[in-house]
Amino acid sequence: MHLRPILILTALTLPAVAQTPATHPTPSPNATIHNVFWQPNELHQGSPIFLTVELEHPAIRVTGNFINKPITFFADPTDKKTWHALAGVDLEANPGDYGLDVTATLIGGHLAHSTQQVTIAPGDFKTGDINVPDNYVNPSDAEQKQIAQDEILKKHAYARSAPHPLWSGDFVKPVAAPSTPSFGESRILNEEKTSLHTGTDFPTPEATPVLLSNSGTVVLVRDLFYEGNTVIVDHGLGVFTVYLHMSRIDVHEGDKLAKGAKLGLSGASGRVTGPHLHLGVRWNGVWLDPVQLLALTLPKTDAPAPAHHPTPRSRR
Ligand SMILES: [Zn+2]
Repeated sequence: MHLRPILILTALTLPAVAQTPATHPTPSPNATIHNVFWQPNELHQGSPIFLTVELEHPAIRVTGNFINKPITFFADPTDKKTWHALAGVDLEANPGDYGLDVTATLIGGHLAHSTQQVTIAPGDFKTGDINVPDNYVNPSDAEQKQIAQDEILKKHAYARSAPHPLWSGDFVKPVAAPSTPSFGESRILNEEKTSLHTGTDFPTPEATPVLLSNSGTVVLVRDLFYEGNTVIVDHGLGVFTVYLHMSRIDVHEGDKLAKGAKLGLSGASGRVTGPHLHLGVRWNGVWLDPVQLLALTLPKTDAPAPAHHPTPRSRR
């Protein structure tokens, strides 16, 4: 793993006091966060971040906050002194320096806390012009009604996430095709409307198998107006992957799937200029760069291994 240790060590230097039965967790002079690491080393707008916190004493809970987003860490399967979180930088966050806060609640109730400055560089995003059928720029009244309903469905799908990681190990490519540098691109549709591209496109022939990038639970299977045939999968602790424009979907909402499970076939449904798979990565309501997520070296978690295939009702 390419983890670069970053300084840290905010020992809470309160004077020692006689131990009294505490009704609230109190800082201890010994309660320190030993180290905070992350990858990738260089963070940009839209970067996913894999954080590791090392503690001197075992903890029962570790939380964080970064650019106004709460972070929930999970314990390493082997060691309650090492905690991890998959988090990220909003594609639309302003570049600059931000404080990364981490708080550990140690066994016995003592708190350990650290804050450090993290620099977010501007993303290198492209601009482009694309042409799509006019109704995708100027939808009819009926289509606007569907768009509004789609928004509610998506909001509902993202509203809950498993309280522990469902993923384990690296995220893998969903199709056997190279990605395009399309994340964060500002697109002008039909010379009329600007659209921010929140995922990565993989150009594929129609009917290319689409595979699940990491283990998780299917939370939405729908034909949406802009997105076409869509699958959204929860990976736990606020991380979702999103698969758009498919021609066929072979899974159902509620399916618990293993990494590499076949979700269906790629296609050209919804607002597209040609067949491709669009992969989106969402964390805590913001969009992250799928290509950077695929490049992270991630550890095994103690996520229960689901069956590799969809549940029996989904099988042919
Ligand atoms: Zn796309």
